[in-house]
Amino acid sequence: MSIALDLDYHAHADRPSAGRVSLVGQTKPQLRETLMGIGLDEREARMRSSQLWNWIYHNGVTDFDRMTNIQKGFRQKLSDTFLLDRPEIVTEQVSIDGTRKWLFRFRDPKNPLLPPVDVETVYIPEEDRGTLCVSSQVGCTLTCSFCHTGTQKLVRNLTAGEILGQVLMARERLGDFPGGERPTDGLVPAPRGSGGSEGDSRAITNIVMMGMGEPLYNYENVKQALLIASDEAGISLSKRRITLSTSGVVPFIEPTGRDIGVMLAISLHAVRDDLRDILVPINKKYPLKELIEACRNYPGLSNARRITFEYVMLRDINDSDADARELVRLLSGIPAKINLIPFNPWPGTNYECSTSARIEQFADIVNRAGYASPVRTPRGRDIFAACGQLKSATERLSKKERDALTA
Ligand code: SAH
Ligand code: SF4
Repeated sequence: MSIALDLDYHAHADRPSAGRVSLVGQTKPQLRETLMGIGLDEREARMRSSQLWNWIYHNGVTDFDRMTNIQKGFRQKLSDTFLLDRPEIVTEQVSIDGTRKWLFRFRDPKNPLLPPVDVETVYIPEEDRGTLCVSSQVGCTLTCSFCHTGTQKLVRNLTAGEILGQVLMARERLGDFPGGERPTDGLVPAPRGSGGSEGDSRAITNIVMMGMGEPLYNYENVKQALLIASDEAGISLSKRRITLSTSGVVPFIEPTGRDIGVMLAISLHAVRDDLRDILVPINKKYPLKELIEACRNYPGLSNARRITFEYVMLRDINDSDADARELVRLLSGIPAKINLIPFNPWPGTNYECSTSARIEQFADIVNRAGYASPVRTPRGRDIFAACGQLKSATERLSKKERDALTA
């Protein structure tokens, strides 16, 4: 059973957005430059950009008029020129276990004639934490055979502002901004953890880039969004509470550690190249040997900052004792956590989840080798929000259709 909320929430539906530039997702230097572009000198641009940053990311304000430390005339100029864009909420569903899933809609303010794109974002409340699972792309170029998202062709990359837009909108809905209220529908999230440096109690304490898409095929936008999400003057989530999951885009693994500095998760799923070529086809381009080598060299890797290896449990495919032993051998010497994920079914798939007894036996071999190997409890299956179940109806336009709309 789940609750589907009928929301009539359309951000900025009343105001035409065409021609106005969104400030959400701009880096601090970009924001300063944008303000200098409307006539501010460098000193004032610096001051105003810190104020805006605080309003946008710390206070979650979407209306320039609420920025009380900025004079009225200038507020007007800001709202005539810029947007503080948030996605529209198409649907918000709450699972019986408290997991919440949004279908967010983004329009291209530069080109409002293009059809909007939809992505899914999921919130998973637990005892001591609340995790937001964020999408990086609409669809995916990769075609992992057990993943529902993989059946949706890539429509486009999300911008840094759209990636952050998911976080900001979720924070708003969960009452995470100052003065906000926790939702009272479904199970109220009540994590006791603290996600930020301020020791406050937040609904969202962790972010995982584990929604739709391959984050390392949208590297620059993901990097920009995560650096903003971890900035202390804004959303202020510790980088140790942000995890980026990749199917194994090897050339971007080292830059992720060096330039973003977040925790890394690898969608491993198989321990032999012949099987991984089928399950995670990017393996043909970057085989296991190269992937494991890149993990060994991940900047910042230590026992306190381990890599998580995700392993989906597929019945009679990758779940034998021999697979478990090979997994342990493959990862030896790498500070690692192993996350066993029961396969989540979706319409049209031929795979089945391993039996509980098999998963237990597999986990036992891994545990005895000294790895913590929690089995991930499937969350939100009733609303199709569990790992690998996300997909939206947005379809890629042909070049002809795009050209017709932009003409
Ligand atoms: N594209 C990135 C981020 C998506 S993360 C990546 O692949 O890592 C989503 C996680 O769920 C990945 O580990 C993915 O392999 C896994 N997954 C995909 N389909 C699944 C399914 N049907 N059941 C369980 N896990 C699945
Ligand atoms: Fe894309 Fe990740 Fe799904 Fe593979 S598992 S198709 S990389 S979203």
